[in-house]
Amino acid sequence: MSIGPDHVAPDALVGIPRQRTNAGRWVADGWSAFRDSLRAQGVGLLEDAATRGIFATDAGGTAYGLPHGVVIARSAAQISSLLKAAQTHAVPVTVRGGGLTTEGESVAYGGVLLDMTGMSNVLEIDERALTVRTQAGIFWSALAERLRRQGLDYLSAPLNLTSSVGGTLGVGGIDVNSPHLGCSADQALALQVVTPTGEIVECSDTENATLFQRVILGYGQFGVITEATLRVRRYQPLRMRYFYYASLRAAIADLQMLDAEEASDYSGILTMMDKAITLLVAFDSDEKEARFERAFLSRLHGAGEFAFAVRTAIFYALRPWRWREALYLYRRKSVLFPEFRRPEFHRGGKMHDRTVVFSRAVWKHWGRRQMVIPDLATSAEKFIEAVERGNEVCRRYFPYYTLYCVGIKLREDHRTHYELSCIPPDARGRAYGCEFEPMLGDAVYSRDTLQSFKNEIYDVGVALGASYYRFGGMMKGYIRRVFGDQLVEHHLTMKRAADPAMILNRDVVF
Ligand SMILES: Cc1cc2nc3c(=O)[nH]c(=O)nc-3n(C[C@H](O)[C@H](O)[C@H](O)COP(=O)(O)OP(=O)(O)OC[C@H]3O[C@@H](n4cnc5c(N)ncnc54)[C@H](O)[C@@H]3O)c2cc1C
Repeated sequence: MSIGPDHVAPDALVGIPRQRTNAGRWVADGWSAFRDSLRAQGVGLLEDAATRGIFATDAGGTAYGLPHGVVIARSAAQISSLLKAAQTHAVPVTVRGGGLTTEGESVAYGGVLLDMTGMSNVLEIDERALTVRTQAGIFWSALAERLRRQGLDYLSAPLNLTSSVGGTLGVGGIDVNSPHLGCSADQALALQVVTPTGEIVECSDTENATLFQRVILGYGQFGVITEATLRVRRYQPLRMRYFYYASLRAAIADLQMLDAEEASDYSGILTMMDKAITLLVAFDSDEKEARFERAFLSRLHGAGEFAFAVRTAIFYALRPWRWREALYLYRRKSVLFPEFRRPEFHRGGKMHDRTVVFSRAVWKHWGRRQMVIPDLATSAEKFIEAVERGNEVCRRYFPYYTLYCVGIKLREDHRTHYELSCIPPDARGRAYGCEFEPMLGDAVYSRDTLQSFKNEIYDVGVALGASYYRFGGMMKGYIRRVFGDQLVEHHLTMKRAADPAMILNRDVVF
C-alpha cells in the first residue's frame, strides 16, 4: 500500500486518512550538557517525575507529552539564559500559561516546559492613564482582583478563570464584549518579550513594531511574553438579558443586527444543540439599555423564557419519539439557569464578575476529562452558513452539544497585526466565531472519533475560506490549506531567522 498524501497526516496510508495525534517526542540529544549549562547560570530545572507529570496534558485531555524538565519562570533575565542555552544545545522549549489549549499547543513533547505562572505580579497601575503593567503569567482573574481594589477592570478576556495574560495575547482572546472592544490582544499597548535567541526587547506599535505584530496572536512562535502594558477601564457591573430562539439563522441575524448597530455592550449566542438557542445581550449603563429598549427590542425575533418554554413543550408533545431529548433539555435548563443567576454574583439586578459566572458554569457543566472545541471564524457574511454546516456535523457525531457564537470587532490595521491568525483575512469591520463543543460528559470516545469530528468542522472552514481559533497543535495540518503555501512559507522564513534552532514552541504551528 502506498503512503499519503494527506493534509493532516502526510505519512498516513492511502485510504486511511487523517489522524494526526501528538507530535513526535524529542530525542534528548544534548540534554545533560544543556542541564549543566543551566545549572552554571543558576537557572532552576525541575526533573522529578511528579513535577513533569503535572504538565502531561492540557485542558483538552487528548494530547499527552512529558517534558524532560520544568523551569518555573522568574524573570526575563532567567528566561533569556534559558533560551540562549536552548539555542546552543538545540533543546525545545514549550511555554505554558494556564494550559487551556485543547490541541496540545501547551504540551511539551520532551525538552523544557516553561511554566509562566511564576511571573504573576502586577507591576504598576496608572489610574489616570488607565493602564496596567503586569507580568504575563498572571491569570486574568488575579489581575481583575488587583484592579478591582482601585475600581478598575480589564477590557476583555476569555470567560475562563485560569487563562493567563501572556497565553491569551498569543492566541487572541474572545469575550462577550469582543463585538465592541475587539479581542483581548487589542488591549495590549506594549510588551516585554524575550526573543527565541534570548534578547529582552520592549515592543509596541511604535517601538520594534514588527516584533510586536508577530508576537501578538503569534502562538508563541516569535518570543516569550514576559510583561504587558494593557489598557484598563472603570469597573462596571452589567445588566444581562436573554432571548430564546428555535432557529440558529434567526438568532444569528439578530446578533449581527445588534452588533452592527452597537446596540449593546456585550452579546453572544449560547445553545443547547440547535433546539434551545439563547441570545444574550448585556449593558454597562442604564442609558445604553434604555436605547436598546427604545430602538431595538421590538426588532428581535426571540421569545422570553416562559413563551419559549411553552412553545418547546408543544413541539415535543407532538413528537413523543424525541422525549428523551426533551428530558435532557429540561434537566440541562434546571441546572444551568440557576448557575447563571447565583445570588452572590447579582446585586440590584446587575451581574458582577461575568468571567467567574461563566467560568464556573463551563467547568461544572461542560468540562470533563476530555474536551474538543473545534471552531470556525469567518466574515460576517459567511457566518450563518458556517454555523449551520458545523451544526450538521455536530448532529451526526454527538447526541448533545453546545454552540457558542460571538463577534470580534477588528482593528483597522488587522491585516498587518493578525496575519496567519484566527482573524479571517476577508473579514471587514467585524469577524464572527463559533465554537462547536460536544458535551462528552463521562462517555469515552476514541481519539479517532474526536479527530474525525474536528476535521469535518475544519473541512467546512476550508470550503468557506474561514479561519480557526484553535488551528495549532493537532489541527496544524490545516494551516497550509487555509492560509496557502506562500503565507506559511513567509512566516516560516521569519521563524527560522528569529529562532535558528527552531526551539520555541516548535510543534505548535510549523
Ligand atoms: C473550556 C474552555 C473555555 C474557553 N473559553 C474561552 C473563551 O471564552 N475565550 C477565549 O478566547 N478562549 C477560550 N478558551 C481558550 C483558552 O482559554 C484561551 O486561548 C486562553 O486565553 C489561553 O490562555 P492560557 O494561559 O491557558 O494559554 P496556554 O494554553 O498556556 O498557551 C496558549 C499558547 O500560547 C503559548 N504561550 C503561553 N504563554 C505564553 C507567553 N507568556 N508568551 C508566549 N507564548 C505563550 C503556549 O505555548 C501556547 O501555544 C477556552 C478554553 C477552554 C478549555
